[in-house]
Amino acid sequence: MGTVIKSTGSWYILRTEEGHTLQSRIRGKFRLDGKKLTNPVAVGDVVSFDREAGEEEVGIITHIHDRKNYVVRQSPRQKHALHLLAANVDQVVLVSTIKSPDLKPGFIDRFLLMTEGHDIPVIIIINKADLLEPEDLEIYGGLEFIYERIGYEVILTSAEDGTGVPELQDKLKNKITLISGQSGVGKSSLLNAIQPELGLRTREISDASGKGAHTTTHAEMFELEFGGFIIDTPGIKNLSFNNLTIQDVAHNFREFFELSHECKFNNCTHRNEPGCAVKNGIEEGLVSELRYMNYLQILDEIDAQNYWERINY
Ligand code: GDP
Ligand code: ZN
Repeated sequence: MGTVIKSTGSWYILRTEEGHTLQSRIRGKFRLDGKKLTNPVAVGDVVSFDREAGEEEVGIITHIHDRKNYVVRQSPRQKHALHLLAANVDQVVLVSTIKSPDLKPGFIDRFLLMTEGHDIPVIIIINKADLLEPEDLEIYGGLEFIYERIGYEVILTSAEDGTGVPELQDKLKNKITLISGQSGVGKSSLLNAIQPELGLRTREISDASGKGAHTTTHAEMFELEFGGFIIDTPGIKNLSFNNLTIQDVAHNFREFFELSHECKFNNCTHRNEPGCAVKNGIEEGLVSELRYMNYLQILDEIDAQNYWERINY
């Protein structure tokens, strides 16, 4: 058995049980929930392998062991294919900023929509704390309130002055953590702050990923000196969800789903239906209006996509 610690598209690097690394290939086609995958094997996958006949230093992955969970996104290149970001993770850290770059509206909610279906805890990091003015700190307070209320951890960090770094290290200890975020938020710098040189190694991934054909397939697992593993992924530009139905989205905004049992219609999409507990929740201050606006935006995109696909035939 081995664990996939790096994937480059056609090659997979395994860490064997003896602690060696082995370049490996895979044969055959793999699907996930009946959907096409751009990459059959993900970093974090536990696999069985054989040695290539006559080529002892090359492995052939023969079996992917059942995944505890996985993080999957719609492929940015192939609308109807899914791209596996990682498998068997304990948690996900989403690095984001309020300033430099500006917080992209909806990105956090889109990211949470991606992880929610797989029951993976998410820690939301707001980095570059050192740049925040009092009015930005108010925005931070607002975000902290919105996301902590629905069960996500929020940590304010600065790779520059070390704010929040010990707290983050503590969270990472002895866990397998996927770290992600839009480029420029300071993910590499933060990794460097967590463990010297770690960001240097990961930045090579980000740089390479800006160009070549393997953009979306680079991910790599690194061991932490204080215990645990980090799976670094290339910066995400944007997340679309044409592979989801309206109901999928409704089910994966966790607080909406909880309230939906009180909606008049059991298939309520929380848009124009009467007796909607989510819309009432907004009025009562129980539901974040920001989350709701982002939700509507995603539903609109899915509707538009479905419309164009219908009239294309
Ligand atoms: P990545 O693309 O997310 O890996 O981002 P980088 O780590 O490459 O950082 C992007 C830029 O933001 C670099 O110029 C960093 O020096 C800067 N940066 C990263 N973290 C911080 C921070 O906490 N505070 C400030 N002021 N700048 C930061
Ligand atoms: Zn409703």
